Amino acid sequence: MMIPLALILGVLTWTLLEYFIHRFLGHHPKLRPNPFAAEHIRHHSEGDYFAPTWKKLLAAFAATALLAYPATWLLGAGPGLAYLAGLMSFYGVYELLHRREHTHAGVNAYGRWARRHHFAHHYSDARFNHGVTTPLWDLVFRTYRPVQTVRVPQKFVMPWLKDPQTGEVRADYADFFLLSK
Ligand SMILES: [Zn+2]
Ligand SMILES: [Zn+2]
Repeated sequence: MMIPLALILGVLTWTLLEYFIHRFLGHHPKLRPNPFAAEHIRHHSEGDYFAPTWKKLLAAFAATALLAYPATWLLGAGPGLAYLAGLMSFYGVYELLHRREHTHAGVNAYGRWARRHHFAHHYSDARFNHGVTTPLWDLVFRTYRPVQTVRVPQKFVMPWLKDPQTGEVRADYADFFLLSK
């Protein structure tokens, strides 16, 4: 397999894992409790809680160690490593994007879309919009819901959403976000 293709396949594999881990380990009642769900439920119930970085690094190292042999055996050394690099680096991208969605306003159309999509999952209906970096797998598995309005409870309001002068939703976000009690 060509190296660029292996890299792309690795990225795609991460987006699929992102969807499955979140939807099933995070939210499926039959698969709970589990260590991921414990952290994820806290993320939902506290709004600004993220699992500690050492746990994420440990999981990433363990996954890399487990996958290194099968990936290089199946794809060959170069493409196998490229596949893993694509997968793990996009996992890192996901972590950064997710945190950024909570802490900072979106700077372009994608960033604004990603916030509507993710906060609809948080505050409208957690059965939908599981993808964080892409809507692809929500579309494939029919859990995509286009966002009308997201009602964000006052106690969970993201710092970037609120106008410090008025205490209301900043004008640029008022089309999609409302504050509720
Ligand atoms: Zn979140
Ligand atoms: Zn969730």
